Amino acid sequence: MQIMLCAICNIASGNCSEDCKYCTQSSYVKTNIQKYRRKEIAQIVLEAKMAKKNEALGFCLVTAGLGLDDEKLEYVCEAAYAVKKAEPNLLLIACNGLATLDQLKELKKVGFFSYNHNLESSKEFFPQICTSHTWESRFETNLRAKEAGLMLCCGGIYGMGESQDDRKSFRESLKELQPFSSPINFFIANENLNLQVPKMSADEALDIIRESKRDLGETILMVAGGREWVLGERQYEIFEAGAAAIVVGDYLTTKGEEPSKDIIRLKEMGFSFASECH
Ligand code: SF4
Repeated sequence: MQIMLCAICNIASGNCSEDCKYCTQSSYVKTNIQKYRRKEIAQIVLEAKMAKKNEALGFCLVTAGLGLDDEKLEYVCEAAYAVKKAEPNLLLIACNGLATLDQLKELKKVGFFSYNHNLESSKEFFPQICTSHTWESRFETNLRAKEAGLMLCCGGIYGMGESQDDRKSFRESLKELQPFSSPINFFIANENLNLQVPKMSADEALDIIRESKRDLGETILMVAGGREWVLGERQYEIFEAGAAAIVVGDYLTTKGEEPSKDIIRLKEMGFSFASECH
């Protein structure tokens, strides 16, 4: 079986105006994450080369903040040009929050393959984890990304205190959007966050992947943040449960599995790595 690996590059970190309770980049919480307005383009290229070496097919340029403005868009495009030049076979993914149709069309024009904007949870539960912007504004950005001709990468985070009904409703909304790929994150506890909930069990996490596969059959399910935290030694059972992609390397503000460990283990399990998308 072939699986897809994606790497994340946090090109503008922290100091976000929004109050998402699950996020260490929100300026509403005091965390000791690295904060910077812009990562050097040379460093982004270096990380893209590393991602390619680590068998990644997707390379996601992420910026903290509510959305894009002209200056940020220009920077994201500049980074994309540089990465494309250095590693033309990486598929570029943009993850820059709320965006207008024109901004998304611009991203498509400079060569982005897809846009990632997570709904995070159900429409009903979202106001409990964020009050500074609406779930609907996220949903609409996803619709616009499709309209702009970008492939859609849309998912969310499980284990933030949402109910089973919320999970169902969340997946119903994803079904409506029919994303090309869908990240499944498991909430990672952090004592500084205003969200303090019990850690979910590995069995529950694997059930979530199975249910997602059942509900979103055509979508590539990508297990992202929290894989190591929630699943521990059982993290490679995710493929049997229905996942077909993972994030390789570090996440936005937390350490991930050592890529070499993932690669060795996945090869031992008989997996090969996707080098193109159909
Ligand atoms: S908008 Fe994004 S970066 Fe800002 S707090 Fe929410 S999740 Fe974090």
